[in-house]
Amino acid sequence: MNIVVCIKQVPDTKGGVKFNPDGTLDRASMLAIMNPDDKAGLEAALRIKDETGAKVTVLTMGLPKADDMLREALAMGADEAVLVTDRRLGGADTWATSSTVAAAVKKLDYDLIITGRQAIDGDTAQVGPQIAEHLALPVISYAEDIKVEGNSVIVKRQYEDRYHEVKAQMPCLITALSELNEPRYMTPGGIFDAYDKEVTVWGRDDLTDLDDANIGLAGSPTKIAKASDKVRKGAGEKVALDPKESVEYIVGKLKEKHVI
Ligand SMILES: Cc1cc2nc3c(=O)[nH]c(=O)nc-3n(C[C@H](O)[C@H](O)[C@H](O)COP(=O)(O)OP(=O)(O)OC[C@H]3O[C@@H](n4cnc5c(N)ncnc54)[C@H](O)[C@@H]3O)c2cc1C
Repeated sequence: MNIVVCIKQVPDTKGGVKFNPDGTLDRASMLAIMNPDDKAGLEAALRIKDETGAKVTVLTMGLPKADDMLREALAMGADEAVLVTDRRLGGADTWATSSTVAAAVKKLDYDLIITGRQAIDGDTAQVGPQIAEHLALPVISYAEDIKVEGNSVIVKRQYEDRYHEVKAQMPCLITALSELNEPRYMTPGGIFDAYDKEVTVWGRDDLTDLDDANIGLAGSPTKIAKASDKVRKGAGEKVALDPKESVEYIVGKLKEKHVI
């Protein structure tokens, strides 16, 4: 069984998101980490590997420094890593990203593709289902638990206040939630081995099944017009009134603001 896990290197948003004056993310001033949902997806793949001996390949499209994240995935237990990197692929929106990632996945053997539900920087949650669409695969999103049974996967899928249990035949694509599991740590031996392994690097010209009209900034139908921090709301107003007065006060305020 071959599992491909799509992982994205994202800025660590725990310390807050910083923007450049032109509205683009100030990635240089923020630590780069493996997207949390993707790390849970990788852990799920490694658990399937532990049970079945599956081969796990991690794949990313990104800057050359994404090599660090791929080595982390190798040190956790992934077997192979692929970095798709090329200046011509820069500035991609979800359409161009998923077109490129799908073209790279097509060059690999796969039974199961796992992506994160969403990346903590772009936050669109579109790339996983789009990759499935490009590859004409069934997709199960929001996975909280994944079991492999013969040629099928059975997924506990988060749905509002309940779960769905969904079964799909492989090949298929699953999008993982960070709640799926607690990702394992890298082992010291794994870290040494990860630096002995070769990361496969592909540029745009290695992806033959990909149209130039669907890559990079020029091939991106969505343009980010502006990105900025949220404007903080004021502290609000506190009043201490009895219940009857409170009702009159609130109704008065709503009228004042033309809500009622
Ligand atoms: C503030 C901001 C807002 C944005 N808004 C939009 C928008 O509205 N529409 C739009 O089209 N683009 C938008 N983008 C651009 C978008 O972030 C990029 O296109 C990005 O490459 C993919 O989208 P995402 O980060 O939302 O991924 P998501 O769709 O949230 O990611 C889902 C999963 O897909 C996989 N994945 C995503 N990117 C990669 C990758 N490079 N390599 C491997 N696997 C990957 C990961 O497993 C990830 O968990 C925005 C970017 C920013 C910074």
